[in-house]
Amino acid sequence: MKKIGVLTSGGDSPGMNAAIRAVVRKAIYHGVEVYGVKYGYAGLINNEIDKLEIGDVGDIIHKGGTKLYTARCEEFKTPEGRQKAIENLNALGIQGLVVIGGDGSFRGAEKLTELGYPTIGVPGTIDNDIPGTDYTIGFDTALNTVIDAIDKIRDTATSHERTYVIEVMGRNAGDIALWSGLADGAETILIPEEEHHMEDIVGRLRRGHERGKKHSIIIVAEGVGSGPEFSQRIKEETNLETRVTVLGHIQRGGSPTAYDRVLASRLGANAVELLLNGEQGCMVGIRNNKVVHKNISEALSETHEIDRDMYRLSQELSI
Ligand code: ADP
Repeated sequence: MKKIGVLTSGGDSPGMNAAIRAVVRKAIYHGVEVYGVKYGYAGLINNEIDKLEIGDVGDIIHKGGTKLYTARCEEFKTPEGRQKAIENLNALGIQGLVVIGGDGSFRGAEKLTELGYPTIGVPGTIDNDIPGTDYTIGFDTALNTVIDAIDKIRDTATSHERTYVIEVMGRNAGDIALWSGLADGAETILIPEEEHHMEDIVGRLRRGHERGKKHSIIIVAEGVGSGPEFSQRIKEETNLETRVTVLGHIQRGGSPTAYDRVLASRLGANAVELLLNGEQGCMVGIRNNKVVHKNISEALSETHEIDRDMYRLSQELSI
């Protein structure tokens, strides 16, 4: 393999730039040319593909977002769109592709593999919802952003003796909610993987209030439902002064943490190694701090699991 491509697709996440840098530098280190595809799969179809040199990925390791931009592309879901993408890659002599993105992007990578085009997936999403890896690139940064925000909200919550409902991202996964809730001592953490009963939540709030608690923090994963609606219900049922904050897209931005930069560097480099070793149709990941890889279709057929022990612990510690 003498020429490979790299793209970022779907929702962006902090650390994607560090992953791009690792792909580019690792390939060049092995004497392989690298091409950057702009706007994810859309750039493959529209032929927005440029050669990247070592210097092109300088000064990006610490930056959020993605230098290659990202997009969602409906056309790539059609056989014609994918055919055009492969024709453009072949015309440039690009023999393999690294796709950095979430599970949707991995489905695209799976389709390319089915067409015989060597593709490797690198998990980049703040949601931490991809089976086959303990952590996805961007999760740690998003978590730290959430914790920073909750710490600030806690200050004002204490001053005003309020109940705060905080809605966090994660799509259908509760990882951001669970980890941030545990890290910030939230009274209640609502995640889509567990059933929740309003009477338990209200009971816990009341007991805390009677015990003299000055404030309560309730974290709601977006996969459970709307934070503002939930906040309204709490207010109606408890009569406690309740406020809601939807953290939104601040969770997707910012300079990646050291952990995400290191993870992105390890996974990006490993993706190149796999391509050069003739592997295809797999995703790279981290398991027990070791870089691993797994067939992408197998990974996509599995369901991401929340850490149930951690959830139980969060409940035990917030009595
Ligand atoms: P993420 O990668 O963050 O999960 P999306 O789910 O939006 O984001 O997927 C990103 C892109 O991946 C889509 O816009 C589309 O181009 C491609 N994609 C997603 N699902 C498929 C599919 N089943 N077949 C082909 N391409 C897909």
